[in-house]
Order: sequence, then structure tokens, then C-alpha cells
Amino acid sequence: MSELSEPLENYIKEIYELEETKGIAKVVDLIEIFSVSPGTISKALDRLESLGFIDRKSRRIKLTEDGKKLAVRLIRAHRLSEKLLTDIIGLDWIRAHELAHRLEHIWPEDVLDKIDQVVGYPNTCPHGHPIPGREEQVRGTLLSEAQPGTYRVKMIVREKDWILRSVESLGLIPGEQVVVLESKNGEVKIRVKEKEARVPRALAEQVMILGTQ
Ligand SMILES: [Zn+2]
Ligand SMILES: [Zn+2]
Repeated sequence: MSELSEPLENYIKEIYELEETKGIAKVVDLIEIFSVSPGTISKALDRLESLGFIDRKSRRIKLTEDGKKLAVRLIRAHRLSEKLLTDIIGLDWIRAHELAHRLEHIWPEDVLDKIDQVVGYPNTCPHGHPIPGREEQVRGTLLSEAQPGTYRVKMIVREKDWILRSVESLGLIPGEQVVVLESKNGEVKIRVKEKEARVPRALAEQVMILGTQ
């Protein structure tokens, strides 16, 4: 078990998720995501580097084996906690995500395995993010970059309150079919279940989709 503070654990988790979705984690991404100053980030990264959790080369951050191990444990706990809260407890996916941030730090490994069993060994969290070890790296197209055609929603990239609220009202839920009718500069016109809607770029960038064959 690590003795890292929760903020430091959160950085490690975020670096892992950036690698997972973008293939690379950069300092600028962390500054933006956590809304902190470059000075704060650099202090945190110094600490993580001295503890052997990350390696830094110029602006790029990479998790070491130890860093990856810790990230995987936290992220698995986070995503399984979300499944427990939505599927078994019946919470909506916004509160589930918020509470999972706290729960991810508390479950012992054997309890997590129990939760995994109770929720039926899922491949992803309710937002479509893979449970570590169960699915390959997430690869898909962002809705903002999609050509007209028929797709399936794969995942909601950032699990922010406004994003989850907006995609839910459009019916853009992982697993759901979405038809892209028009696309211009990242803004797309879509149809989900007979309902047409325009999705602004900022939101379309948060929805990952997969082509259906
Ligand atoms: Zn979450
Ligand atoms: Zn999630």
C-alpha cells in the first residue's frame, strides 16, 4: 500500500488516464485538468519523481512500473466502485463518479474482488472507461471528428458533471447507437433513437465512438 497523499494519488491516476486516452501525458494537460499553477504541479511532480512513481523527459511524463501499479489499483477501485453504485445501489452516473473518488482509496484488494464479482466482472465503468486488465487501450473516434455514418457510443472521455448531464439528455450513453448526419468544424448533427440534435464542439470532443460494421 502506498502512503501517498490523496492529491498525489490523483495526479498518478490522471497521468495513467491521459496515457490511456491520448497515448501521452503532458504537464500542460495536468495544469489544465486540475486548474493549478505550474509551480504547484512542478512541486508535485518533483515529489512523485523522487519517490520513483514517474519519469520525466522534457514536457512528457511517464509512469514507472511502481507508478503504473498504483494507478491501476486506484483506477480499478474507482471504476468498480462506480459500477457498484450505479448497478447495485441505483445511483445516477454523476453521483457515482463523485463518490467513487472517495471510495477508490478505501477498499482492500479482497473486497474489491468481491465487488467485481457482485457487479458481474464488467469490462468498463458506467461511462465506458475500461476496467484495467480487462480491455485493451481505448481506441475510437471523437464525435467531433466523425464523418457522417452510423456509430456506437464507446465512452465519455471526461466524467465532469456538465458533460455527463449534457450527453445523457442527448441519449449519448455508452453502447447506444448514434447516427452522425452532418459534421462541420467539430460541431455535429446527430440522431439518437429518432431524435435529432446539434452537438457543440466542446461536447462532441468528449464523446468517443466506434464505427459499426
Ligand atoms: Zn469516474
Ligand atoms: Zn466512470
